[in-house]
Amino acid sequence: MKYAIDKKGFYGEFGGAFIPEAMYQNIEELRSNYLDIIESSSFQSEFARLLKYYVGRPSPLYYAKRLSEYYGTNIYLKREDLNHTGSHKINNTIGQILIAKKLGKTRIIAETGAGQHGVATATVCALTGIKCVVYMGALDVSRQAPNVLRMKMLGADVIPIESGNKTLKDATNGALRDWINNPWDTHYIIGSVVGPHPYPDLVARLQSVISEEIQWQLKELENKEAPDYILACVGGGSNASGAFYHFLDNENVKLIATEAAGLGVDTNQTAATLATGSPGVLHSCRTMLMQNEDGQITEPYSISAGLDYPGIGPMHSFLHTTERVKYMSITDKEALKAAFLLTRLEGIIPALESAHAFAVFEKKKFKATDVVVINLSGRGDKDMDAYINEMQKQNEPS
Ligand SMILES: *Cc1c(COP(=O)(O)O)cnc(C)c1O
Repeated sequence: MKYAIDKKGFYGEFGGAFIPEAMYQNIEELRSNYLDIIESSSFQSEFARLLKYYVGRPSPLYYAKRLSEYYGTNIYLKREDLNHTGSHKINNTIGQILIAKKLGKTRIIAETGAGQHGVATATVCALTGIKCVVYMGALDVSRQAPNVLRMKMLGADVIPIESGNKTLKDATNGALRDWINNPWDTHYIIGSVVGPHPYPDLVARLQSVISEEIQWQLKELENKEAPDYILACVGGGSNASGAFYHFLDNENVKLIATEAAGLGVDTNQTAATLATGSPGVLHSCRTMLMQNEDGQITEPYSISAGLDYPGIGPMHSFLHTTERVKYMSITDKEALKAAFLLTRLEGIIPALESAHAFAVFEKKKFKATDVVVINLSGRGDKDMDAYINEMQKQNEPS
């Protein structure tokens, strides 16, 4: 595989494990075991069983007839929004909880921004009866109250982090500190294809079930081996990594990913890491990130809580450099417009994150014969405040 990691955990110049010595033991234990565990038949059968009967996979590949007619092409939606807990995140947390059990771990920690990954982690901990601690920036704790309550109801301890900007980056630092202090009994479930090797590769493998299903579903529906295009949004990049995975080496499949431009890439209110960032080390891996001249991380902004991460998975930095994937920046406004259009044409209220991918149709013309698969990674329930706000604005006399 041309776009896979090398032996040291690098995608070209990106990736690796830039970790303090105190974390070496945890990372090394995971690194030296994860492939054997994932490939074992006991893991495979339990993972498949839970994905099918607990998560509800396979998620449908749905031909969006009215949206296709509107844009004059053929659009399929990969319905990750129909998974248990409402997004693709559960694919990863199910896989990692099984790995943690195999490693004999009795305690789970996680970081969360909007709370989606925290909920998916607290869910699998309840499912398996394992203790769960979720780190969350104090600002996010107050902004994302419903998800905080869900995590607590599921039995997780939610620890607010008061340092820094009190958002996702600070929560991640909190979880990393915890892990250093609890190296024996604890597994850290990272929520995206970010962090030190082996996490980016581990999470991409667990999410690759998305493209595995697209392959046989498309064969069944269109009698085609592969789509012409696959579209996905990127925060850290896990849903995109899963949707692209099995098509990366097939250069006939064109891949497009969307970053959150916020108010625009030429403002300082943006989360478009590839468009505005430069290489550096964030959360123990070398990747593209948003930083000032002193190398300090700058605070990202997007209307979508799941996309405002100041870095991006090292795999995406590499796919960007090699131009295997085309990355586009989509503003808040463009994403909102796409969300309302999808809702009115298909009766599906998408997560704001996914709406960023749908905005591509306004910027690029596809051929009438093209088959375009778009990963619909989450539900709009959590974004109703932003949608209601937008409807009120539209109703105001101008
Ligand atoms: C978390 C989340 C994202 C962003 O994370 P990735 O790792 O880039 O996938 C996107 N969409 C939804 C619905 C999410 O919950």
